[in-house]
This record gives sequence, structure tokens and C-alpha cells, in this order.
Amino acid sequence: MKYRDLQIQTQREAPNNARTEGFSFLVRAGYLTRENLPTKLGEYAIHHLRNLSNDPSFPPALAPGASVFHLSLPTIGNDRETFFPVASGSIEIIHCPSCKYTERIELARFTKLPLPAEDEMPIEKVLTPDCNTIEALANFLDILKEKTAKALMYTRVSDNKFVFVVVRGDMQLSEAKLKQYIGDIRPATIDEIERSGAAAGYASPIRLKDALIVVDDLIPQSQNLVAGANETGYHLKNTNYGRDYSAEIVADLIQAKAGDNCFNCGNPLSVLSAIILASDKEYNFENLLLALAETHHDAKGLTLPHPAAAFDVYLMHIPGKEMDTRAKAEEMYDSLQSAGISVLFDDRDERAGVKFNDADLIGCPLRITVGEKGLKDGMVELKLRIAKGNQLVLVDEIIEKIKSVLT
Ligand SMILES: [Zn+2]
Repeated sequence: MKYRDLQIQTQREAPNNARTEGFSFLVRAGYLTRENLPTKLGEYAIHHLRNLSNDPSFPPALAPGASVFHLSLPTIGNDRETFFPVASGSIEIIHCPSCKYTERIELARFTKLPLPAEDEMPIEKVLTPDCNTIEALANFLDILKEKTAKALMYTRVSDNKFVFVVVRGDMQLSEAKLKQYIGDIRPATIDEIERSGAAAGYASPIRLKDALIVVDDLIPQSQNLVAGANETGYHLKNTNYGRDYSAEIVADLIQAKAGDNCFNCGNPLSVLSAIILASDKEYNFENLLLALAETHHDAKGLTLPHPAAAFDVYLMHIPGKEMDTRAKAEEMYDSLQSAGISVLFDDRDERAGVKFNDADLIGCPLRITVGEKGLKDGMVELKLRIAKGNQLVLVDEIIEKIKSVLT
């Protein structure tokens, strides 16, 4: 491809909305707009990655930790999804640094620690004015949030069944986990809550009408919790699962958080932001390009490796005083392409410095410079993107040389 055909626009400055260096260089090198949309060059690079994945010699999907196009990206994941951790990622995942357990945060499992068992105490109704949150309730009664039962009320979409959920007061419900057991839900309306006999802000699962009760599996192990009295302004001390109410479903409903204990190995879990590289054996090529940029750049730009780089060679000419270097470069462009080497030909009549900078930004593995000085001896200059120095290679030998460098 020719530089001008791809309408490449590089930028000197990092975009001010860049949260990561990889994104910054993709914008500066002209693969992406600041709005994170692929340009013509970006589309080309993504298309190239898609083609690569169709080659039977490449892995059918990204297994966690597996090499991607012969590159080892630091991927993590499970048997369904492969993630690349990056600060700008829109997905939150739970990851165990010890055993590598990885799951989307809303579905991640962890080990819950019950409080020490207690004897069941008699239920006691207490006045709790303005205590319609767990925080206010725990403060007012001077107890731990762990000693309260949090109520969440939904309506099941499929049959309008009223759903009453109980989790321990210090924990966060994962609606994604809940949906796995009961299907799609929406928040219950005040009418629906009152019809069941509950009171918003002061609700408990005790003596409800026509409610599907679902409790987190820690609740049956938690004695003497404070729960709503289903009467505004009142709570019940010492409610106990089994004695005072029971549930149709007892299951893990809690969203894991950083520092929780790994379900597999017991070590503390981390929360990471990530992008998804593959899901159900399908790649996300735009995200793959970003992951490559995050892992392959230096201070001057991208350092995309073969074969992931859209072009193996950045071919440029330095405008000559006596010779038509551009025509020579054009000849070389044709012969490299005929030899099956992918080339980005910078066909602009720009100064050498401008082109060198752009070549560094765009990050092809090799750069060939056609200049008057070398041509007089039948040579061109070959530079590896990731090497400091360059070498002169006979024009007749350049194809062999490139092939030996790229394998
Ligand atoms: Zn673990």
C-alpha cells in the first residue's frame, strides 16, 4: 500500500484523552482517531489481523497465556473468555494472582467467611426512625453491617413474580448471578412491594405474600441478623433463617471485590480493568490491535512485530538532487510486493526527518531508505525498527535479507 492511498495522518502530540500509551501511539501513528475509531490505516491493520487468524497455523482462539500470532501477550482468562488487562478497559474482572483464576467481576466466585456461630435469640421489634439504609441502621443500633440483612426487591419479567432477595448487609448483590437462577428482572414498584406485605426501606422476607424468596448462601450461616419489620420505622432484631423464614432458592448471589479470598486457592483476589480479546472462540481484532500497541512500543512509537504488523517494511525515499530516488523506490516497491513482502511505501516528497519520525510512529518491523548516496553503490539502507543502527544492503540482495530477518 502507498502512504497517500491510506491517507495516513500522524500527530506530533499525544491526544489529551489518552489513558494509556498504546492508545496514544495508535492515535499519533494514525491508526485510530481520538474518538477510538479506526482510520483507513487502522481498518487495514485490523483486516490484516483477521486474515492472520484464518491461517490454519495460528491458534483457533486465544487461550489464556497462549501465544497470540507467535507473540506472547500477557493475557488472562478462562475457557470462555480471554482478557487483556489495561487501565482503559471497560470490563472489570476478578483475577487471582496466585492460581490465575479469572472471571468477570459480576460472575466471579470467592470464599465467604461466616461470622462465628451464635445461639438463636428471640426476635425483638425495635423502633428505628430514619433508618432506611443499612448504613443508617448499623449506626443507629451501633452494630456491624455484617449483623444486618439487606433486602432487595425485584419483579421477574417473565411472569411478574415478586422476588425478595436477602444478602448480608455488608455485601453487594450481583444481579448477574441472581439472573442465572431466576431469569430477567426489573426493580419492583412501590405498589408491588406493598402488595407483598413488605415496606420499602424496612423490608424483610418474614410473612410475605406471593413472594419468591432468594437468599445468599451465607444467610443460613448468619444468626441473629437485624432485618426490616415490614413496617416503616421499625426493624426486627435476631431474625434467623430457617426459624423465621425460608427461601425457594439459596445460592451464591454476591459480587466479589478486591481482597476477597479466592475460591480455588484462598489467596486475595484483585480487581482489574480489561478489554476482551476473545469470547467463545471469536477474536475481537480492534482490541487485539490495542493490546499489541500496549505491549509493543517505545518512546518513539509503535514497534509492531512480524507477523502482527500490517506491513513488514516501511519503504521510503529521500528526494535526490541528481537521481530520481522516488522512481527507484517505486521499482523496489513492486519487486518487494512481487516477492510476497508487505510494504507501506511512503511516496510523499517529504524531508527525511519527517519520514523517519513517521516510520517510527507507525512501527513496521523494517525500514528501507532509498537515497542517492547508497544508490551510487547499488545499495539501500535497512533498519530494524527495534535496533539503533542501520546497515547498507545491495539492492539485489534486499529480498533475501528481509526474508532472513523476518523469520
Ligand atoms: Zn486463586
